[in-house]
Amino acid sequence: MAGARHPVVEVRRSQRRRRTVSAYRDGERVVVLIPDQFSRAEESEWVDRMLARLAAREGRFARSDDDLFGRATRLRGLYLAEYGDRAIPVSVRWVTNQNGRWGSCTPADRTIRISHRIQDMPDWVIDYVLLHELAHLIVPSHNARFWALVGRYPKAERARGYLEGVAAASGSPLGD
Ligand SMILES: [Zn+2]
Repeated sequence: MAGARHPVVEVRRSQRRRRTVSAYRDGERVVVLIPDQFSRAEESEWVDRMLARLAAREGRFARSDDDLFGRATRLRGLYLAEYGDRAIPVSVRWVTNQNGRWGSCTPADRTIRISHRIQDMPDWVIDYVLLHELAHLIVPSHNARFWALVGRYPKAERARGYLEGVAAASGSPLGD
């Protein structure tokens, strides 16, 4: 971007970290936390990636409530089409007051809330969380029928692993 200053980056290596990388802005600097065992090449790859992610977050990107609703509509058509109206939520929105869960669904009023904590995660993880909540409109509990619906999403297993990894790394077990 023209005129954009390249931020000063401080890389901190941590022996406690195994795979996770995180970054935050600290005044003029951007601090990137990486696992101690990363090579120089991995370090530079991840610094680039985290700078792009921060820039996207700060620019608010396309991850608005409208974006969420659009995604929900597409996912419903792909995986829950035969349920018709039953899988249509009244509202889907980002919330910041949901620290214990990635997403939640109230089948009674057909509303879905998604935690801002996943806002910077990859698309396929956001889609998993959304499909999970959409499936709750049809099956409220986590029973076999529910998991069969969620399992239609090809990356369901992978996304669950991703979210478990993030929760474990941050030390705060999160559920759905
Ligand atoms: Zn659930």
